Amino acid sequence: MNLYKTIYNRARKIENDTVRILMSLVQTPSFSTKEKEGVEVIRREMEKAGFDEIRTDGLGSIIGRIGNGPRTIAFDGHVDTVYAGDMSQWSFDPFQPKIEDGKVWGRGTVDQKGGLAAMLSAASIIKELNLNNNFTIYFIGTVIEEDCEGLCWQHLINEEGINPELVVITEPTNMKICRGHRGRMEMRVEVKGQTCHSGTPERGDNAIYKIARIVLEIEKLNKRLRSDPSLGKGSITVTEVGSESPSICAIPDSASIRLDRRLTYGESKETAIAEVYDAAKRVACDDAKVNVLTFEDTAYTGKVYPTEKYYPTWALDKNSPFLADAINVYAEIFGKTPHVSMWSFSSNAVVIAGMYGIPCFLFGPGNEMYAHTPNEACQIEQLSGAAAFYAALVANLNGRI
Ligand SMILES: [Zn+2]
Repeated sequence: MNLYKTIYNRARKIENDTVRILMSLVQTPSFSTKEKEGVEVIRREMEKAGFDEIRTDGLGSIIGRIGNGPRTIAFDGHVDTVYAGDMSQWSFDPFQPKIEDGKVWGRGTVDQKGGLAAMLSAASIIKELNLNNNFTIYFIGTVIEEDCEGLCWQHLINEEGINPELVVITEPTNMKICRGHRGRMEMRVEVKGQTCHSGTPERGDNAIYKIARIVLEIEKLNKRLRSDPSLGKGSITVTEVGSESPSICAIPDSASIRLDRRLTYGESKETAIAEVYDAAKRVACDDAKVNVLTFEDTAYTGKVYPTEKYYPTWALDKNSPFLADAINVYAEIFGKTPHVSMWSFSSNAVVIAGMYGIPCFLFGPGNEMYAHTPNEACQIEQLSGAAAFYAALVANLNGRI
């Protein structure tokens, strides 16, 4: 029998086990910076599958290794999920998963515990069918993705020395191959004023009036931003306004805004900051200060690993041989041509590919439309399909098929 077929059949045969792994992950809430219990579920599954090495890093990501070959690749799935939100919008308990209509239902089934379960089953298939000899393969359950995507990979690359030639991210793509997405950054603009008694405002310099003029320029700037044919338009918007004043009867002496900036292809931190300074200059606020915000929340391990809230845009080259391999493997497994596109959201690829230039693509079970929504559910057929795809990709890269 053709090896692709053998791999697919094996994935279907252990589908119940993939579902079981997903359900035990859903039953174990693991919000950003609180992933410890979820990581322990993965550790037990890795032990059961006979991984060659299992360890956690300083931020708490779990790193399971298979093989010892000279080349290195990695599969990434983030362990953290967003909260359930308003429980009244769920028709069932989001942490008591159920199987219905060929789907597993519960918080994180789509984003992205389904991808984690599929990659763990892929690891079992790779071992059972002996599909790898050339590669050191890391299966990594990463942390803090929802709050600061990519931070875990800064740690894996800088502190753990993990440097793969390819990373497959198992985020939900509804079984499309996604080869890029927009980047983003969070900025703060601050202006100073001159305070005085608010009964004589002409004696002072009201910082709120200054920031208000900048706010209106930001609205105009958004309209001027460039567009990319595949990634779409960059955007900027004000998400918060603040001010400080010695009293409610005094002229505010400082004011600030928070900005959410989405970056398309060709835009960087430097260009985005320069545009905001320019917007301030257009309204004669030459003293405005623009800063990129810092993420410094504490990981469940107790470690703080601060980083700028800058998440670079990335895209895998259309002509990348890894993309050709992925397309070929998909066609062999599923008997049809895959959809190759860009992804709607952000992921750890901002660091893997955007910051470090490591080739990367996203492929995973679950329709991303249901990410972060109530009544989240992932198709079981996609779980085993993704497991087969990951295992077959490894076989393909090993020259076995
Ligand atoms: Zn996700």
